[in-house]
Amino acid sequence: MSIPFIDLKAQFRVVEDEVRSAIDRVLEHGQYIMGPEVGELEAKLSEFAQVKHTISCSSGTDALLMPLMAYGVGPGDAVFTTPFTFIATAEVICLLGATPVFVDIDPHSFNMDPAALAEVIDRTKREKKLTPRGIIAVDLFGLAADYDVIEDIAKTHDLFLIADAAQSFGGTYKDRRVGSLGDVASTSFFPAKPLGCYGDGGAVFTDDDELADTMRSIRIHGKGDNKYDNVRVGINGRLDTLQAAVLLAKLRIFPDELLARDRVATRYTDGLADFVETPKVSNQCASAWAQYCVLSERRDAIQSALKDAGIPSVVYYPKPLHAQGAFADLGYKLDDFAISAKVSERIFGLPMHPYLEPEAQDQVIAVVAQAADGR
Ligand SMILES: *Cc1c(COP(=O)(O)O)cnc(C)c1O
Repeated sequence: MSIPFIDLKAQFRVVEDEVRSAIDRVLEHGQYIMGPEVGELEAKLSEFAQVKHTISCSSGTDALLMPLMAYGVGPGDAVFTTPFTFIATAEVICLLGATPVFVDIDPHSFNMDPAALAEVIDRTKREKKLTPRGIIAVDLFGLAADYDVIEDIAKTHDLFLIADAAQSFGGTYKDRRVGSLGDVASTSFFPAKPLGCYGDGGAVFTDDDELADTMRSIRIHGKGDNKYDNVRVGINGRLDTLQAAVLLAKLRIFPDELLARDRVATRYTDGLADFVETPKVSNQCASAWAQYCVLSERRDAIQSALKDAGIPSVVYYPKPLHAQGAFADLGYKLDDFAISAKVSERIFGLPMHPYLEPEAQDQVIAVVAQAADGR
């Protein structure tokens, strides 16, 4: 028996009838671009995330790019973010000619450390080389960053705050839904994310009417009153109607899937807490559990034992962004962000999805426990 890291086939069996008829309906009406399912999905997502505006788009990366473009970010601007995230978070800042300024993470949540953020903003202001413009906080592995504190810092320094919720959509922070955090939140519907479609997709959420209008224009080539009236430079950032139809079917089972993910995470933590460092989720938050990642000095031994048992495990992330060749021009050294560097040496993710059976999970737990113990 092999255990998949993420089981999209098991999920497909649950939504199969609905997805097939939803796709059929799109094939019948033929409105492949901005068809009725797109608006329907946006309304449902706004309700789910408790926000005024949802703007669906072509990927989680474009969902980060569009708000940065709407804020007019460009050369000479500093955008503060974490180096312990997927490349897209910082890539979009560079695409606009601005500079990502990294802030180290908290060793337990793996999210941006607010105290370090305040220090880096002060230092950037003192140096006067870049203009501080905004913050992209990342909700790593499904757990929201510490928004109460980060929102205060953003307000104090007059910075915009984008929540990169690519991994956390479906989670909550102190009774607020992920999506309603920050000035604007971005998510991804990449197939492996908690809410995924069958291709690329994403969405942006905000309560800000003006920002929402600007992003709707940016999404379709900077359109004005109609598509041949272009009032600004934009992108081709639309979500396909077919993907919206898939997401509508999957959104219906999403609340149940989130509960199942939480049950899987609890079982892992109960079984593994004595052997490896397990994730800590404050009781004021609910993680969307995009990943279940643990830390151990014996990572190599545990991963090789898992491999021998036919169980996949993945390192998120083996190399923090400040050490990536893509950002070599920024001139960082690996130990500039000591916590990110240290965590990247010890962290790894275990199979995590809503359809993971207790028996399969207990097999994973047994292999990890034994290898971590060194017996
Ligand atoms: C997946 C991901 C993205 C990018 O999403 P895509 O849909 O793949 O473009 C951005 N940020 C984080 C933290 C992610 O995990």
